[in-house]
Amino acid sequence: MSTLKNIPVVSHEKPSGGTGNLLANVFDELMAFCRSRSLFMLHYCTGCGAIELPPAMTSRFDMERLGIQPMVTPRQADILLVTGYVSTKTLKRIILTYEQMNSPKYVIGICSCTVNGGMYWQSYATAKKLNDYLPVDMYIAGCMPRPEAVIHGLRELMENIKKGESDNWRDYYRRYDHYLGNQQRLFGENWQTPTDIIGEARHYDLMGPETLGPHTALLEQHQTPLKPFEMTLGLADLPVRKDEPR
Ligand code: SF4
Repeated sequence: MSTLKNIPVVSHEKPSGGTGNLLANVFDELMAFCRSRSLFMLHYCTGCGAIELPPAMTSRFDMERLGIQPMVTPRQADILLVTGYVSTKTLKRIILTYEQMNSPKYVIGICSCTVNGGMYWQSYATAKKLNDYLPVDMYIAGCMPRPEAVIHGLRELMENIKKGESDNWRDYYRRYDHYLGNQQRLFGENWQTPTDIIGEARHYDLMGPETLGPHTALLEQHQTPLKPFEMTLGLADLPVRKDEPR
């Protein structure tokens, strides 16, 4: 029994890399395999590339046969699919959505516009490189990429997850100051989200030398604590009937 207690449940290493603990490595590889075959995808339809998703999902290409299906909320989704150009306003919502997803999580940028702005590269209103603001695991380039390319990209991601090579979500915690700095440059110094990324980095044991820095220090200066939901909606001031549960 004492030997079993010493076996770590999670090795914190890539399945292929291993920790030297055979049982933990087998367990991690099994977890990675199961994870790669059961992916819930939140598609954030930002641009025209979204039009290729209905054929990719439905009978002709049928991505569900790969174990991938659409999901309506970020809290149960594994993949965030960004399907085209991203305006500055939209990018705020994308970051908010990404930060609400549970880890491990993966980002796919579809369309050339997510890579470098595409045909909107000169526009003042669009973000040029999605990976400046979020840890992108895979780009599927094209204007717009066909469903075959989308399916191929998803298959590549599945293989990477299985091999333990798709772990950019860790990078967001380890280099949070870098990502936050780019976000502040675009949205202004007062930019903040309701999510506690630094607390999560501590929770996952992913504090790195670049997790904290000048940009997180700036965030701490102006960050305001979250209000309860009912206060935000002004519901606290409404009269409550005695027989009505709140
Ligand atoms: S790459 Fe082409 S199809 Fe995709 S969002 Fe940009 S303009 Fe639209």
